[in-house]
Amino acid sequence: MTEADKKLLAEQAAWIGPVVEASRALLESMRPMPLCVVCPSAQWYRIEDEKGEKRLEAFCTEFRGVMYDHRRRGVTACDARTDAIEREKPSNRQD
Ligand code: SF4
Repeated sequence: MTEADKKLLAEQAAWIGPVVEASRALLESMRPMPLCVVCPSAQWYRIEDEKGEKRLEAFCTEFRGVMYDHRRRGVTACDARTDAIEREKPSNRQD
């Protein structure tokens, strides 16, 4: 995790989900840290392989697919995230 990642986490803490919050060691080992870590459209989950190694992966509800797993490079810029955050503003919420 870079200094820029730490700054982004601090500034966008509202969008960190409970699985990521409970997986700080895995989060800190991400290089690069994907923008999906601080996105309201990311659904993070933790998996464990046959060797007992734990990993974080993320499903994106915007693109309807897994956008971060052990094979993928992390998303570093995303228009869909900007749109998702805009929709979450109280004045734009439909509920
Ligand atoms: S909208 Fe973009 S930043 Fe958010 S989870 Fe999907 S791919 Fe990641």
